Amino acid sequence: MTTIAEKLHQVRADIATACTQAGRPAHAVTLLAVSKTFGPDAVAQAHAAGQTAFGENYIQEAVEKIAALQHLPLEWHCIGPIQSNKTRLVAEHFDWVHTVDRLKIAQRLSEQRPPHLGPLNICIQINVDGGPTKSGVPPEEALALAQAVAQLPHLRLRGLMCIPEPAPDFEAACAVFTRATALFGTLNAQKLGLDTLSMGMSADMAAAIRAGSTMVRVGSAIFGGRPAKPSTN
Ligand SMILES: *Cc1c(COP(=O)(O)O)cnc(C)c1O
Repeated sequence: MTTIAEKLHQVRADIATACTQAGRPAHAVTLLAVSKTFGPDAVAQAHAAGQTAFGENYIQEAVEKIAALQHLPLEWHCIGPIQSNKTRLVAEHFDWVHTVDRLKIAQRLSEQRPPHLGPLNICIQINVDGGPTKSGVPPEEALALAQAVAQLPHLRLRGLMCIPEPAPDFEAACAVFTRATALFGTLNAQKLGLDTLSMGMSADMAAAIRAGSTMVRVGSAIFGGRPAKPSTN
């Protein structure tokens, strides 16, 4: 059986290869290890192999895991949908949120962020391929939302995030991710100072890196397959 440490090393090597093929330096892309559905033990193993940033989708599950791992210097990223009644838990326990797509959620996160924790890092989720039922703000509304979020006192706007539908091939995947990169450039032309483009998962990481991703969110390639997702958040 392959250990978490070995899979993590393989993913890091794959990121480095994708960066080289894209003509980008290896440090241009950071790895977010998505530990949803896996226990504190798996996270601790990844940390022992040098990983510090972890992504979680289900708030309650994450809060328990974060408490169990308080003794380790980990950085926690919320990458799941956030309902209004969960913003307080998110503001109190996470370091980053990738899934802001409404001003109301951002306002609540800002109001509920304990000041001693410092600003909560925010990415705005965009619906880059226009899926009708998907989370994420339509690309044409991203600038206005970003400008509003940038004004909120206890948040720090860092960038954009997207989860496109699986594409038929590498070139098609690159084309979709490139739209997010273009929008990122448009926002930065408005002096928003964004440094994070969160895109790419186990299956489409290389295409995302080719298109300009600065942070890939990788779960199954590190931790293995997941059971069906829990029905509560
Ligand atoms: C689960 C998840 C990932 C990781 O997906 P894998 O295919 O396991 O790499 C990345 N981003 C988000 C938003 C997710 O929900």
